[in-house]
Amino acid sequence: MAPTDPDHQLRVVASQRARELGQRYDDLVPVAALGEGFRYENERVSFGSFQKGIHRPRQMRGAAALTLLTAARVPGRPAPYEDELDLENRAIVYHYRAGPIDQPDNRALRAAYDMQVPLIYFHGVVPGQYMVVQPVFVTRDDPVTRRVLLEVGLPISDFRGEGMVSSPDVREYALREVRLRLHQQRFRQNVLRAYRHRCTVCALREPALVQAAHIVEDADAGGIAAVVNGLALCAIHHLAYDRNLMGIDPEGVVHIARRLRDERDGPMLREGLQGFHGGRIVLPRRLENRPDPVRLEQRFDRFVEISGAA
Ligand SMILES: [Zn+2]
Repeated sequence: MAPTDPDHQLRVVASQRARELGQRYDDLVPVAALGEGFRYENERVSFGSFQKGIHRPRQMRGAAALTLLTAARVPGRPAPYEDELDLENRAIVYHYRAGPIDQPDNRALRAAYDMQVPLIYFHGVVPGQYMVVQPVFVTRDDPVTRRVLLEVGLPISDFRGEGMVSSPDVREYALREVRLRLHQQRFRQNVLRAYRHRCTVCALREPALVQAAHIVEDADAGGIAAVVNGLALCAIHHLAYDRNLMGIDPEGVVHIARRLRDERDGPMLREGLQGFHGGRIVLPRRLENRPDPVRLEQRFDRFVEISGAA
């Protein structure tokens, strides 16, 4: 039985805050939002400086860390950390900080192993934006190779201050979920970049409203996040596409479902949807990023089937 964690309540509050941010920012939290930290016992507590990996705020009573961080890999530059997912061990590999094994950050990391406390892990997807993975537990500590293994738990069952109680099967499932989320974030980033953050239908360029849509369902979540299976769409056109109220044929022509074309409603319907019927989508400049006509056709056939006529 692991020793009682004197910081359990602080961890619960931190975890709730991190989860809220993840939801608000669609699973990719900007560093500015994380930088605000969270309120605990009338004080602002920091999630970390986001310049180093291991963080234990000064308000904590125990020795164990609160958060871990992996910075995003900047394309074309060497990885700042070599952290990675280790599917065989159902774990994330995380490295000690450089320097002595007993320097404060490494001590806080190793104490998290001794105490079996739930940690919050910020995984950098692109510079300045993080995916929140929690709870994670240090389940192996290897001072020789200077690395630990992090296993992902379930928020409800593993955050009660009793250490990690979920079964290995559940942990494997939780890690696969993380992998899927990472894959989705990479897809999203690649698609938005290819379309220069504009809706391919209406050209809206508000980052908070433009999203990456799949043309057909992602067959291989572990594979390459294929831009050719994506379209950048604003929230309304994304939903319209997903619900088969709008189709895009293999030539890139926009079709609004007949049901909506015949309807009379305010300016949003007229200008936001009906007005784009028969128009063409704006394609990415690079040929290799353009939507795959085979996938478009497959998807368009479904639209025709469901919406009646094109
Ligand atoms: Zn749009």
